[in-house]
Amino acid sequence: MNRLSIVAANWKMNGSLALVNSMVSELNNVTLNENVEVVVCPSFPYLAAFSLASDNVNLSKAFSLGAQNLNEFANGAFTGEVSTSMLQEVGASYVIVGHSERRSIYNESSVLVAHKVKAALSAGLKPILCIGESEDERVAEQTEVVLAAQLQPVIDEIGIENFKNVVIAYEPVWAIGTGKTASPEMAQATHQFIREFIAKVDENVAVKLPLLYGGSVNATNCEELFAQADIDGGLIGGASLKAEEFKIICSAA
Ligand code: PEP
Repeated sequence: MNRLSIVAANWKMNGSLALVNSMVSELNNVTLNENVEVVVCPSFPYLAAFSLASDNVNLSKAFSLGAQNLNEFANGAFTGEVSTSMLQEVGASYVIVGHSERRSIYNESSVLVAHKVKAALSAGLKPILCIGESEDERVAEQTEVVLAAQLQPVIDEIGIENFKNVVIAYEPVWAIGTGKTASPEMAQATHQFIREFIAKVDENVAVKLPLLYGGSVNATNCEELFAQADIDGGLIGGASLKAEEFKIICSAA
């Protein structure tokens, strides 16, 4: 199956206008394989600048812009929050939803995550839905139970047919920012579980669903991870802030 591969950069609360400009000109020199899309997700204040810089160098259509979060409501008295229409206005076409840092630091439940996924889709933004287990859950052999519990509310909220516009990022929490990557075999086994979980509801949707791996992906381990049958690219944190390393990862997808 020739699925879309995606390499998404999650800058988290890092970066600067200088990084926006230098990254855009560096990305302009990357050669991507066919069927690969690169999505850069800087912090909210840098979205418009990234759009503008991309337009200025006529960056290829294979590069898209994404946000790291959204509010599930269209507008209103939600101080500090950002709506889907605002994200679209500044050029975003993707949005990360349910990152483990949002779930653990900001107490986002799987039900809230499901509402956010629905809001993104309703506005025409593609959600990158993050799911993953903690180290204790992995050790207790609860990984599949945890992933199912994170996925089911989203399936219930949006309906399986709408997963055709969703990207899933499997990110074991213990591998995020720790340097402890899941082995390619472990990552593949978990990706296969996720695809089969979706396939039980709709096989056609499952076959086409891009499943990204995230968790300490770097220039050295990306090739082996991306070569796995059910891994369709990655969600990259720390390594996405270093242009040279990120370019290697993009070209490996
Ligand atoms: C992430 O933040 O989604 C992530 C995968 O981070 P890192 O690559 O730094 O582990």
